Amino acid sequence: MSLAPSISQILIAFATALVISYLAWRMGSLSQSGALAALVLGTLTMGIGLRFGGPAVLLGFFISGSLLSKRTAKLRPESANIAAKSGPRDAWQVLANGGVAGLSYLLLAFTGELIFAIAAAGSLAAANADTWATELGAFSRQLPRSLRNGKLVDRGSSGAVSAMGLASAAGGALLIAFLYVLTSMYYPSPLRLLGLLTLSGFLGALLDSVLGATLQSVYFCPVCGSETEKHPRHSCGNATEHSRGLSFMTNDWVNFLCTLSGAVLSCLFAYLWL
Ligand SMILES: [Zn+2]
Repeated sequence: MSLAPSISQILIAFATALVISYLAWRMGSLSQSGALAALVLGTLTMGIGLRFGGPAVLLGFFISGSLLSKRTAKLRPESANIAAKSGPRDAWQVLANGGVAGLSYLLLAFTGELIFAIAAAGSLAAANADTWATELGAFSRQLPRSLRNGKLVDRGSSGAVSAMGLASAAGGALLIAFLYVLTSMYYPSPLRLLGLLTLSGFLGALLDSVLGATLQSVYFCPVCGSETEKHPRHSCGNATEHSRGLSFMTNDWVNFLCTLSGAVLSCLFAYLWL
């Protein structure tokens, strides 16, 4: 069975993605390259995924993530000192979060295998879980605990978890699962699907933290005396030194693996439980 979208479907998706990418660029959520990547991914996801949850899960992720980031940046500006990148998202960040979903919908169109619609939703559930955990976790009263050594670390650090961050991850995954089940024409056993997409997203975000604690490249600012993901320069302007992790394992790669695991896990769970 071919699920290739019609030309009009693609054109409507392209126009919608163009408007949203432009607005996100004007509002400072996306850089120029980020807006271009979002245009391509948005066209794929909303065009091919039109009847399979694409528009709702993509917009649910994008809008909730952008609003939460803005709020956190305003109320907790110090959280921007740790993250590898702050400010407008570039193309790599967009691809790391949405690339697996775009690829899943492409595979859906070419193979006609409906499991790829679930994979796309699973990957965005993981991306959203991770985003909510980071942004809402910044407001946690308790400091997060490092998965590497169990010590309390600064809010917003990769590889650390707090109760509020974990609850936010579950909430972020649940939103995407809900939007998928509500808008996709392929939802065998809606309650199980809701559960398995939420679980896949949550576990994907947890993997993100585990990778953040182990393999992700971390730097040290000798002037501020603090760990950071920023390289080559810290927000203070001084050069940072590599302190641990694999040097190529940037936050973008960790996010990509997070979304990939959300997709793979949702396929696995769908195979086992649906
Ligand atoms: Zn510094």
